[in-house]
Amino acid sequence: MKRYAFFKGEIIPMQDAKLSITTHAFLYGTACFEGIRSYWNEEDGKMYIFKLREHYQRMLNSCKILKIKPKYTLDELCQITVDVLKKTPDQQDIYIRPIFYKSSEFVGVKLDGLEDDFLLFSVPFGAYLDLTKGLKVRVSSWRHIEDNMIPMRAKINGAYVNAALAKSEALVDGYDESIFLDSAGHVCEGSAENLFLVRNGKLYTPPTTGDILEGITRETIIELAREELGIETIEREIDRTELYIVDEAFFVGTGAQVSPIAEIDHRSVGTGKIGPISARIQKLYFNVVKNKIKTYSHWCTSV
Ligand code: PMP
Repeated sequence: MKRYAFFKGEIIPMQDAKLSITTHAFLYGTACFEGIRSYWNEEDGKMYIFKLREHYQRMLNSCKILKIKPKYTLDELCQITVDVLKKTPDQQDIYIRPIFYKSSEFVGVKLDGLEDDFLLFSVPFGAYLDLTKGLKVRVSSWRHIEDNMIPMRAKINGAYVNAALAKSEALVDGYDESIFLDSAGHVCEGSAENLFLVRNGKLYTPPTTGDILEGITRETIIELAREELGIETIEREIDRTELYIVDEAFFVGTGAQVSPIAEIDHRSVGTGKIGPISARIQKLYFNVVKNKIKTYSHWCTSV
């Protein structure tokens, strides 16, 4: 099926969307992005984009931090996304990648006085991490970037070199994913996921002041756990060794969805099998994102 992109103000075939090699964002990583999922609901015969507005709200915050002047309003960004998706009538889950970027063709490191532009494309996308087996995870030897280095609160393209180093290190050593610590040794997040731990029936996750992305799935899980399962989430600093003694652990993210963890640094998480709370949260999450629970229909934008 022919795929389309929004590029330089219009919807064009994806293969025709090309950037110059001197584009500032390519030279220096001066861009911010979002990763959004759209789910195919077989029964409804419809596509639903999950938390579309929330993603663009975060993206506009990223723009502010990166001094990018957004060319489009929140409503326009949502509409552009729906318009692009309508051009390719997918009947499968897809991943949407909007990017605001420093578009000037300019050599020289800075943020001010440059042109900005916006592009968007979509690709078919299945599971990013295995959802069924329980992941084998390590603590990364790479420290996480911090708010005063490259802020994780903004989803900045260049910041993902840090993630790529950690993820690749994990993969070549036979793990599925990495967990980052900050320079004080506290747990941050996965390479592209937020992290939840279960201890004595409660959820624990690092706070948004802990050099993590303010995850949209993280917010969703906190709300669903509270409202639907009566499970409280405690947001606080987490020590490395707490990872070794928890009952359950799982990653959450638009890509990762809800991915249970079975082993961290060669210590089994709980029984080493997917735990009961992780399983309930995963099931609930998939029902919500596919618009199967009407209480949360307002999070699902029909294409
Ligand atoms: N942390 C990082 C570093 C990420 O890249 C992502 C994926 N966007 C997440 C957390 C999860 O965020 P969200 O739930 O908003 O996708």
